Amino acid sequence: MSFPELGLSEGVLRAVAEAGYEQPTPIQKQAIPQILMGRDVLGCAQTGTGKTAGFTLPMIDILSQGRAKARMPRSLILEPTRELAAQVEQSFESYGKHSRLTTALLIGGVSFADQEKKLDRGVDVLIATPGRLLDHFERGKVLMNDVGFLVIDEADRMLDMGFIPDVERIVGLITRKHQTLFFSATMPPEIRRLADRFLREPKEISVSPPATVAETVEQAMTVVGPRDKRAALRAFLRTQVVKNALLFCNRKRDVGVLHRSLQRHGYNAAALHGDMEQWQRMETLDKFKDGEIRFLVCSDVAARGLDIPAVSHVFNFDVPTHAEDYVHRIGRTGRAGRQGHAFTLATPEDGKYIAAIEKLIGTRIPRVDIEHVAGAELREETGKGRGRGRRKPDGRKSAEREGRATEGRKKGGDKKGESRRKRGKIEDAPDYGDTPFGKTDLVPAFLKRSAG
Ligand code: AMP
Repeated sequence: MSFPELGLSEGVLRAVAEAGYEQPTPIQKQAIPQILMGRDVLGCAQTGTGKTAGFTLPMIDILSQGRAKARMPRSLILEPTRELAAQVEQSFESYGKHSRLTTALLIGGVSFADQEKKLDRGVDVLIATPGRLLDHFERGKVLMNDVGFLVIDEADRMLDMGFIPDVERIVGLITRKHQTLFFSATMPPEIRRLADRFLREPKEISVSPPATVAETVEQAMTVVGPRDKRAALRAFLRTQVVKNALLFCNRKRDVGVLHRSLQRHGYNAAALHGDMEQWQRMETLDKFKDGEIRFLVCSDVAARGLDIPAVSHVFNFDVPTHAEDYVHRIGRTGRAGRQGHAFTLATPEDGKYIAAIEKLIGTRIPRVDIEHVAGAELREETGKGRGRGRRKPDGRKSAEREGRATEGRKKGGDKKGESRRKRGKIEDAPDYGDTPFGKTDLVPAFLKRSAG
């Protein structure tokens, strides 16, 4: 089933095409027609399955008729965290760019006054975390009387975070008959009971979790200062056998910067970014497929949904801020049983993103050092001990004690190498030849080969 067959309006289909999506995901195929028919939906799905577009796209069409009154939102989306709420707002922005819906985001950490101004103007889609929404309600700034569409997203996380009483209270405030969508990654009995109370004869949809990292992809990561990233990348390209590669940047601007830098250094590189016309993207992609272009620098948006052929290497020139994107990106290599390689360049600031990625993929990405490029360490999420590396009473850094973040390091001077050797970390490291990488048994095999 293709997007045009789902029953969405022309404007929404255009926005979907502009986002680069070619096919609806399983949850989109199942949920969108049901939502457009006005049915309640119980979706067992987690992030990464495309569920946000699954409810956002039909909502845009359902809400396209009618106008919001001051302080009386026409629809409500409850999210457990600010980040998720902000992502949903972004989805409305991009998929709703050809419609005229007004949205407001009620999350903590943002001034009440700005949020109130938006509410006063009338809001079609209100996206909120439960606590902040109730704060506004208690101040008399928002009324639930006109909510005809309710989405409860990530219900199991709401439960973990203790938000269920707030959610129940909010649902109790909605007086109008409304259509309800309820999503949860898991369905423990408490969540199932809640769903039974909130939903009327729902269509139940369950999709499998997002793709996990293929075993055929070898991963590695180097932590360097932001200014050393390009040099580190070039060191890699100089010494490893890289047939062709996709290089991901988080921002459009950086796609341009990296592209120009690679060209300046004589690499056969092209860029793929969201500002390019579709035909330009296709042309670039064809050249990449034909081997005319060897390195393709791209953003997630540009690469998403495009049929990019299997590549030997994926580089995360920037660590993705959404852990799922890491899985999507590196899934471009190691396809069809072939060996793939994924190399990530992290900066100390990326600590929390790396932690989220490692939690999602369930493994630790092996750290390696690149000779002649000063290595750095990830900062912890808490920000404690920033930059210096906390020292424990026995004189070692905490990360070392916990076995994190340091194996594979052999920074510059022999002294450090010596002391580590004494600790037994790299004592039996064989000579891997002309490789710029840290020589420990934790370095992935693909980095131990010298360029052939
Ligand atoms: P979600 O599960 O909603 O967090 O979405 C996961 C990712 O998939 C997001 O980065 C979306 O932009 C992307 N996405 C959603 N629908 C599609 C689609 N039909 N084709 C390709 N990518 C999609």
